[in-house]
Amino acid sequence: MDFELTEEQRAIRDAVREFAEKEIAPRAAEIDRADEFPAEIFRRMGEQGLMGLHIPEAYGGAGADVIAQALAVEEIARVSGSVGLTYAAHLSLGCSPIFNFGTEAQKKNWLVPLARGEGLGALALTEAKGGSDLAGGVQTTATREGNEWIINGTKMYVTSGAICRSINVLCRTDSAQGHRGLSMIIVPRETRGVVIGKVEEKMGLHGSLTTQIFFEDCRVPQENLLGKAGEGFKYAMITLDGGRIGIGAMALGLGRAALEASIKYAHEREAFGKPIAEMQAIQFMIADSAMELDAARLLIMQAADLKNRGVSFTTEAAMAKLFASEAADRACHHAIQIHGGAGYLRDFPVERYYRDNRLTLIGEGTSEILRHVIAREILKASV
Ligand SMILES: Cc1cc2nc3c(=O)[nH]c(=O)nc-3n(C[C@H](O)[C@H](O)[C@H](O)COP(=O)(O)OP(=O)(O)OC[C@H]3O[C@@H](n4cnc5c(N)ncnc54)[C@H](O)[C@@H]3O)c2cc1C
Repeated sequence: MDFELTEEQRAIRDAVREFAEKEIAPRAAEIDRADEFPAEIFRRMGEQGLMGLHIPEAYGGAGADVIAQALAVEEIARVSGSVGLTYAAHLSLGCSPIFNFGTEAQKKNWLVPLARGEGLGALALTEAKGGSDLAGGVQTTATREGNEWIINGTKMYVTSGAICRSINVLCRTDSAQGHRGLSMIIVPRETRGVVIGKVEEKMGLHGSLTTQIFFEDCRVPQENLLGKAGEGFKYAMITLDGGRIGIGAMALGLGRAALEASIKYAHEREAFGKPIAEMQAIQFMIADSAMELDAARLLIMQAADLKNRGVSFTTEAAMAKLFASEAADRACHHAIQIHGGAGYLRDFPVERYYRDNRLTLIGEGTSEILRHVIAREILKASV
């Protein structure tokens, strides 16, 4: 399906597709096997102006809109889920909070280098006691002393935490308040007291490094507070709304890759004297995947379009991410089925797509939490 795109959106999609196919696709299987961060690819993406795609040119970015951002993430995830997640997290979780809530000085110091591709950005929300329940789960504290914040606590599952330039950290600055006691603070990774834990061994998305981070009497200047004290939970929710469009796009990319591999294999593989593409059971799986991925694309475009226009998009972003991640899960499942035994082998990429996509049903709001968000927003609007 080709959604009506502007000339600029189409040009960005085509350029990113060409880059992804030429420079990422040939290395994707190796990135998965080696489970090493592909620094060279991100250096090249920086040179291509991709690392600040949605950030205005005044802050070192390319000034593209949300639809172009989603298309770029989709094209990159289509060839490598690992590079796709690292990229989506950098844009939405690393760059966007500083752009949305930062002062001019913070944008100059922290956003410009990220947008120029001089380093990756990260967001540390999740802790051992709280992934879905951030308000109740965040125990990392930031205490004011003179003109510094002293941060103590442990964050989990931080994408690019081990290699990033800066981390937007959700901290408790007022223990007497619930979610209103949370604030977001920019912490340069190389600050004393930032201790990177082990890189997690994951089911998929190898090469996207996920780490624990310990903050041990980590001191940062008072001016690293993002926006206002007590607004951190709100900033996290706004950031996740935007991030969900990116994770939906990532799922769509992986789902498309699975469908494309299925179609190719169905033409090539013969059983009972004819290509399996001629069998209705195979055709139905291809039809379902194609239909669901097109529906996912429309939901992603709807959410991105609303965000572009500055209209509330919480429900639509949740729908886009929920539907796209589950549609891609089914498309990957079908792809393995269509490949038969070959689908279960590492010789073919479909098992990698399946493993890589599984995260999209969990990160930045699990499917259960998203159903809750959608129902809450719909019911709220109905009274
Ligand atoms: C590869 C990877 C990368 C990640 N990157 C980051 C990152 O960069 N930064 C970051 O901060 N975090 C990151 N995360 C963490 C991720 O966002 C959380 O894992 C996710 O939000 C779920 O939280 P949890 O793991 O604590 O699960 P839990 O919240 O413990 O959930 C467990 C189960 O209970 C269900 N559940 C919980 N509450 C409810 C409810 N109210 N109603 C119904 N069901 C419920 C959930 O849906 C889930 O099925 C990453 C995780 C992974 C695996």
